Amino acid sequence: MSASRVVRLLQTLRPLELGLAREHCAACGFGWLLRLARNELGVRCLRCGASAVTQSLAAVIHAEMPALAAASVYEMSAQGPLVAFLRRQGTALTTSELLDGVDPGAFHNGVLCQNVEQLTFADASFDLCTSSEVFEHVEDDAAGFRELHRVLRPGGRLIFTVPLHDSAYTQERFALRDGVRVAVLPPAYHADRYRGATVLVQRDYGRDIVDRLRAAGFTQACIVAPPRASLFGHARPVVVARRTG
Ligand SMILES: [Zn+2]
Repeated sequence: MSASRVVRLLQTLRPLELGLAREHCAACGFGWLLRLARNELGVRCLRCGASAVTQSLAAVIHAEMPALAAASVYEMSAQGPLVAFLRRQGTALTTSELLDGVDPGAFHNGVLCQNVEQLTFADASFDLCTSSEVFEHVEDDAAGFRELHRVLRPGGRLIFTVPLHDSAYTQERFALRDGVRVAVLPPAYHADRYRGATVLVQRDYGRDIVDRLRAAGFTQACIVAPPRASLFGHARPVVVARRTG
């Protein structure tokens, strides 16, 4: 773990909520889990720093992709414990960020810029596409899902997390009125680790996220519920969609 990451983690520390558990990290295999605070980002692997969200993703990726080492993978971020996990598996890994002022497909300081609504990759390029806490920020998520379906090979999987709300239906936070996007709910923001800024939340996903994936072409889509007892109770459901044809 880098020194800056350690400092950032320590800033989230709540002394009364500190905990240590003997549990294997799905991302790196280390056997100790640290709780800095009673929330999913406060639960971290003591060695690789993976949060409860990243460890939930890694566990589902392992289960869904038995031949992960031979897979061609696209991850929609360029750094952090999920990228490190995918690198350690020996995958042929492509990473990117959405960078302001950089053309999609171009590199800036060694980082590839991509907009998921309009990817520059060829059809059927990857066996696995992953993302963590990205799609709730994508303005046209239907276009993004269609693009990931396009760049996946038949049999390929999209495995990702978004904050999932306990609701049957997704609530859009913006609506188009006379061609203009207007807020229908008070603005909500999430911190963006990479750009050091906050990004607007476009929608609160409900369980119909699987229907939205099917509408984009995925023939199979499901929400994989995590085992309840793990990760101090902060394991996260993971969305899995499969391209079959
Ligand atoms: Zn770890």
